[in-house]
Amino acid sequence: MMDEFSKTVGDYGMQSISTRPHRGIGINESGNFLNLSNGKASAGYVVEVFGNDFACDLRVASKYLRCPIDFKAVAGHELIHASHIYHFGYSAITTYLKNYTEYWAYRYTINVYLNAGRSNSAWHYSVSSLMFW
Ligand SMILES: [Zn+2]
Repeated sequence: MMDEFSKTVGDYGMQSISTRPHRGIGINESGNFLNLSNGKASAGYVVEVFGNDFACDLRVASKYLRCPIDFKAVAGHELIHASHIYHFGYSAITTYLKNYTEYWAYRYTINVYLNAGRSNSAWHYSVSSLMFW
């Protein structure tokens, strides 16, 4: 995280950055996180830190650490959410700014893949918009 983005724990209110899922989140057979309560899968996510509306934990599924382009696409996407949470607050993001933050985060992810010549991956991410939070 530090090498690619010069961001680490403490920046954007991030309390922790890792590949280890929180309670209630599993790993599915394709290596993505799986929200056990709603069945939604994702490559990464950010989650509120209890008691602090402007802080979050950031997670990237370990399989995306193998390829630098994937890591950049997934971790950068979540980092955009982290920065929005830091600026607007988690509760604002989860209510009326959800489309705003996803728009910018997806734009970013798609650009990473297009710049890397991986238009297939870009297309995949643009159509599976429930894959991330
Ligand atoms: Zn997202």
